[in-house]
Amino acid sequence: MHKKTRIVILGASFGGLTAAHELRRILPPGKREITVVARDDHFVFIPSLPWVAMGQRTMEQISFPIAPSLKSRGIEFVIGEATRIDPQSQKVHVGESVLDYDFLVIATGHRSANEAVPGLGPFDGPGHSLMSPRETEEARTAWSTFLEDPGPVVVGCAAGASCIGPAYEFAFEIDHALKKRKMRHRVPITFVTPEPFLAHFGVGGMGRARQFLEGEFEHRDINYHTSAAVSKITASSVELEDGKTFESHFSLIIPPLAGVGAVSNSPGLANPKGFVSVDEGYCHREFDNVYAVGVAVAYPPVDETPVPVNFPKTGHMTVQMAKSAAHNIAADVQGGERVTRPPFVHCIMDMGNTAARMQADPVRPPRNYVRMSVGRRWLWAKKAYEPYFLWKMKAGRTWLP
Ligand SMILES: Cc1cc2nc3c(=O)[nH]c(=O)nc-3n(C[C@H](O)[C@H](O)[C@H](O)COP(=O)(O)OP(=O)(O)OC[C@H]3O[C@@H](n4cnc5c(N)ncnc54)[C@H](O)[C@@H]3O)c2cc1C
Repeated sequence: MHKKTRIVILGASFGGLTAAHELRRILPPGKREITVVARDDHFVFIPSLPWVAMGQRTMEQISFPIAPSLKSRGIEFVIGEATRIDPQSQKVHVGESVLDYDFLVIATGHRSANEAVPGLGPFDGPGHSLMSPRETEEARTAWSTFLEDPGPVVVGCAAGASCIGPAYEFAFEIDHALKKRKMRHRVPITFVTPEPFLAHFGVGGMGRARQFLEGEFEHRDINYHTSAAVSKITASSVELEDGKTFESHFSLIIPPLAGVGAVSNSPGLANPKGFVSVDEGYCHREFDNVYAVGVAVAYPPVDETPVPVNFPKTGHMTVQMAKSAAHNIAADVQGGERVTRPPFVHCIMDMGNTAARMQADPVRPPRNYVRMSVGRRWLWAKKAYEPYFLWKMKAGRTWLP
């Protein structure tokens, strides 16, 4: 093996940056050479994208340039798109160059599988999305145009979606924003979801969240349809497989996700959807020097539902996975115990005028605990967490609250 252990990390978001800083912290400088590769030169705090769509934040407020933060801490940063991984020869292809590694961490997140439903947008169809900064900026423009000539709105998730929380947030946020503008009476809101019941979230439910969200939707006059399979989106409607059609002047349907091309095109690395199957220490099941964390990981659904709903991988869970993977790589390099703790979830759902905090440990049932609390204080906590997390990532701190 090379004198220093060469660790290549693909992705520089929740997973990639956490893994890089954790490895820098655990392994002595003389022992490691860490290279982060990412398509994007900025870290974006994705959980704030719904606020960008609503015009409450700009992209500049929720992002920072990655290069200075990594370089000042002795971590190489390559801006470029990995196109292929060759786990047998331990190489990653990035544009014209090839990087050799001793250990690889895959933290490349997702590709929106918009091909799943005709019309899922924005760049493939008339629908809107929050799944990336570029799509969110499009949604912001479309939302402000919509406000000039409002009408019915449909919000929700397509069959097979896993990132379900942001759809609820967006429904609550537009309800609140429209009320503030005294326009809510002109905008019927319909929520469509593949979940068998509200607040299933792809994790089988979260305690009393179901009753709470049913009550809130009823209280706020948000019509909802569960076990809904969206089959087509047009500029003026959202159609379901069972024949129901909802008029919409603005629709935002979260797509199902797939792995990115670099991973799905590399034979032997991923499942047919392009996600990487790992053991409980986030190590690839076949290649023991390849790790995967975050949205790139393959997790089976928690239960069988009439319409498919997939297991979510939140930013908070991604940070836990990246810390465990870094710890286990360090154990491979210099010996020590491996960690295999199943992820737990802490999240705050913005509801416009208030927020709900939900916690479950572990994420997959059966659980040791599920907690839920609602109040304006959680809205303030969510707002405060954004600059705190940005500072923490920039400064290379990896602890978790
Ligand atoms: C609208 C929205 C709201 C959310 N809200 C919350 C929330 O409130 N709380 C929470 O915990 N989670 C939330 N999440 C989930 C959270 O954002 C994700 O779990 C998290 O971003 C996953 O991090 P990741 O590192 O796995 O991937 P990503 O954040 O998707 O990052 C992928 C990285 O890989 C890079 N990359 C991709 N392909 C390549 C390639 N071929 N070559 C090189 N680099 C590549 C990208 O440039 C990027 O740096 C939300 C998600 C969305 C979409």
